[in-house]
Amino acid sequence: MARYTGPVCRICRREGIKLFLKGERCYTDKCPIAKHHPAPGMHGATRHKPTEYAIRLREKQKARRFYGVGERQFRRYFARAARSRGVTGEELLRLLERRLDNFVARAGFATSRAEARQLVLHGHFTVNGKRVNIPSYWLRPGDVVAVKEASRDLEHFKLMRELAAHRTAPSWMSVDMDALMATVLRLPQREEVDAPVDEHLIVELYSK
Ligand code: SF4
Repeated sequence: MARYTGPVCRICRREGIKLFLKGERCYTDKCPIAKHHPAPGMHGATRHKPTEYAIRLREKQKARRFYGVGERQFRRYFARAARSRGVTGEELLRLLERRLDNFVARAGFATSRAEARQLVLHGHFTVNGKRVNIPSYWLRPGDVVAVKEASRDLEHFKLMRELAAHRTAPSWMSVDMDALMATVLRLPQREEVDAPVDEHLIVELYSK
């Protein structure tokens, strides 16, 4: 599936919720959701009661877009979550959270998942000392993610260090911003996942 390259705020407007796709701007009053802009399209402002199917579909789309994952990959994640012993919806979110691009964003090395994806693709990170440029790389407890030696003096990472004072990393990771390094302490619990989705609806959608 081709990657969506259009205006990202449109995605939030479609879902009617902040998905934090644009970094710092999402926290300002320039955000279209903060300004109560309606859904895109000619009938965006028209209110109508969605069907059960539409509610579940939107929830899945919301999760997919929040993590920047394609349709096919998302289905594969769901299939894997369904095969696991845990609660399917929670396992699905855990798989999404374990992605390297998500971890980089949540550790505070990037202002959004899209930016984190770009940084990973450009090879700015190592996992356990080895360069990894795959955004979907799954991290395990004990893995150490670090900014590559040659990238540490980039303006971007200087800025991230300054912003770190205003952020708190989730408790399933430990972050050392001075060393530009973060460790996966354990897998996240559901309450530590900040995705604004109801995973039960996604499970219902795929279980039909
Ligand atoms: Fe745009 Fe961010 Fe607001 Fe979404 S949350 S509408 S990406 S500014």
